[in-house]
Amino acid sequence: MPETNESSRRKKRLARRRRKKLIRKITTAVVSCAIILLTVVAIAAIVNRDDGNANDIDNNFVSEEHGMTEGDDTVFNPENETDEPIPPVSDPTVTPDPEPEVIPEPEPAVMTVELTEADIDKGILILVNRQYPYAFADDDNLIDMFSYKSSAYKFRDTGMMISPVAAEHLNDLLVDFYNKTNNNDVNIISTYRDLETQKRIYDSKLDYYGGDVATTEKWVAVPGSSEHHTGLAIDLGIYTDDGESFDFRGEDEYAWINENCWKYGFIVRYDSAKTDITGIAYEPWHFRYLGAPHAEIISGTTLCYEEYISYIKAYPYDGDHMFFTSVTGEKYEIFYLRSAGAVTTFELPEGSEYFVSGNNVDGFIVTVKLGD
Ligand SMILES: [Zn+2]
Repeated sequence: MPETNESSRRKKRLARRRRKKLIRKITTAVVSCAIILLTVVAIAAIVNRDDGNANDIDNNFVSEEHGMTEGDDTVFNPENETDEPIPPVSDPTVTPDPEPEVIPEPEPAVMTVELTEADIDKGILILVNRQYPYAFADDDNLIDMFSYKSSAYKFRDTGMMISPVAAEHLNDLLVDFYNKTNNNDVNIISTYRDLETQKRIYDSKLDYYGGDVATTEKWVAVPGSSEHHTGLAIDLGIYTDDGESFDFRGEDEYAWINENCWKYGFIVRYDSAKTDITGIAYEPWHFRYLGAPHAEIISGTTLCYEEYISYIKAYPYDGDHMFFTSVTGEKYEIFYLRSAGAVTTFELPEGSEYFVSGNNVDGFIVTVKLGD
């Protein structure tokens, strides 16, 4: 029976298909289960590893806090702790200042001053005495003191020559004295003397002392060694309206002149306490012009001029300079410059207000007026 055979084969085919379908389902289920299981195992492994790291951090934290590591049996001692500074925590909201730009200081402009050997013998600060006679290098710029003729004081004569700067300040000094005292008896009896005049005075005095050289030279400088040669020295006398004359001793109301002359740039020469240095007896009538600030500086010391010239050498050009502020507030810088021979040079800031004077010994004195 073909139909029956045919039906039987169909049934068998159907049964085979059902078996294959079932096997596929089972296989799919098994694979799915395997994937889920692997996934779970993998997640479990990751979670387990994170826990291990956390334990490590905890262990480290504990070890550091106690100053020792696991297995370290050193006893914790607070003195073992170091005092290292805690580094500053930078504030991110604060912008650090930019590095300041370094601008190089400009080299100050300097001027070079050149001096010759002959300049040692010139200037208002030269020392002139027996040891250092005047070289007559600077006596061609004199004026007649009489050009200042004033009713405030008197003159021995016309034609009394004097340095212009000394004349101006002597006039101021004597006019101020007159305005204070109404006394016009101060008499200018000697200013500049040339060599011939000094010789005449010297010889006359030598005659007077009967040829006694030592006594003569106590009162009259040897020709060539008188400060009067410089035109910067003045002798005062007293000559009354009644025609009487007296020596000027700087006493009584005249003491004002000796006590205040430094304000006008003068010093009184030949202090009685310094005769062994100056070689000249005390002459309270002999004034020497030095100008500012040197007259003021000396007036604040007990130095005679010979000593002052030595004192300034303690402030050499290449060393510490002297700084001085006058009572009226002017500031000065002063230094000594030793002569280098034929030509001596020094440098000052460009535009400096200064003056140079020889010392008539071995070099120069430089006086710089400083700004405020
Ligand atoms: Zn004199």
